[in-house]
Amino acid sequence: MIRDQETLNGLLGTIARFVRERLIPNEDIVAETDEIPADIVADMKSMGLFGLTIPERFGGLELTMEEEALVVFELCRASPAFRSLIGTTVGIGSQGILFDGTPEQQQKYLPRLATGELAASFALTEPEAGSDAASLRTTAIREGDHYVVNGTKRFITNAPQAGIFTLMARTDPADKGAQGVSAFIVDADSPGIGFGKRDRKMGQKGAHTCDVIFDNVRVPAGNLIGKEGQGFKTAMKVLEKGRIHIAAVCVGVAERMLDMALGYAMERRQFGQPIAGFQLVQAMLADSKAEIYAARCMVLDAARRRDDGLPVSTEASCAKMFASEMCGRVADRAVQIFGGAGYMSEYGIERFYRDVRLFRIYEGTTQIQQTVIARNMVRAMGGR
Ligand SMILES: Cc1cc2nc3c(=O)[nH]c(=O)nc-3n(C[C@H](O)[C@H](O)[C@H](O)COP(=O)(O)OP(=O)(O)OC[C@H]3O[C@@H](n4cnc5c(N)ncnc54)[C@H](O)[C@@H]3O)c2cc1C
Repeated sequence: MIRDQETLNGLLGTIARFVRERLIPNEDIVAETDEIPADIVADMKSMGLFGLTIPERFGGLELTMEEEALVVFELCRASPAFRSLIGTTVGIGSQGILFDGTPEQQQKYLPRLATGELAASFALTEPEAGSDAASLRTTAIREGDHYVVNGTKRFITNAPQAGIFTLMARTDPADKGAQGVSAFIVDADSPGIGFGKRDRKMGQKGAHTCDVIFDNVRVPAGNLIGKEGQGFKTAMKVLEKGRIHIAAVCVGVAERMLDMALGYAMERRQFGQPIAGFQLVQAMLADSKAEIYAARCMVLDAARRRDDGLPVSTEASCAKMFASEMCGRVADRAVQIFGGAGYMSEYGIERFYRDVRLFRIYEGTTQIQQTVIARNMVRAMGGR
């Protein structure tokens, strides 16, 4: 937790300057090369960005959820691939260790994650288990003081760069549901781990995904996170926090797109005046502004509730659903305001349009968020 407002403002100002001076000027290079330049990664490490959520005693900044959201708002005013590199490690890749790991596991991994020396990925999805993640088939069968892991994980963000995986696998093959799933820390250089080809994606160049194949991979029993059969709960805790994080990402990117659209609308002249003077264009700008404001308020409210120790399953899903759908609408309006130029790569807005499509899909699709929200409402009324 940052102790005073001045220090927090200092951090946010430093990130805003980094985004302006280093990330935005490199967006085209990342899009062209599909790589984040090494000097930018080094800068991110030296700024402590890989330790945002990690406790101070392990070398991190130990931000509260609200502080994390404020940082993400700033950071995501640049191409989302930059955030992906950090966000997966400080978020879904490592939080399981923080929430449910043993003191030994935390001591072994968290300091190296905080410096960025190690990158972490989250391996839940499989070819046959996406939204229905509890039906996953990868097995981890105990043999003496090891578990032997077999199976394939799909679309795993940062897998090619990861030093460790938070892996969800079935330790009880007789139980086909959530109760049979356990969570593990798996070192990426363990013998038997193979990687598929990098996925060719619609957007978010510079953020890589691929299949991860486990072929008789021996994982020490000491790498089990929590207890056997509790891995799905760990994964859901990780994803609940991740949903607030992704909602914050959507707000940051949407603010950037709206800035671009407003700037263009002020410059572009038609019928003898800037198009920003036309009420129909103003309506698009105003709708985007209002929706971003709503999403920002939702993110901060959900974050504060979480910081206060309140349950946030519904709020996290509401924020993720609304913010990701909002981001899609803001992207669409931004392309519209740019007109034909919006369709051309050199203006950059079509890249954001493609990049943000992902937010409605990963870490729980919009339909899964709707399911969670409605299920919580029904349960609160005594239903199932
Ligand atoms: C770029 C990218 C990065 C990713 N990174 C990771 C990662 O790091 N780690 C990881 O584990 N996973 C990752 N994923 C996987 C992602 O979380 C899944 O793609 C997502 O959860 C959806 O699963 P699916 O693709 O199998 O779609 P499906 O589950 O097959 O869904 C297809 C459609 O059916 C709908 N649907 C499914 N079930 C229901 C239902 N019960 N009610 C209503 N509608 C339903 C969905 O909403 C969707 O519209 C990533 C995916 C992408 C594209």
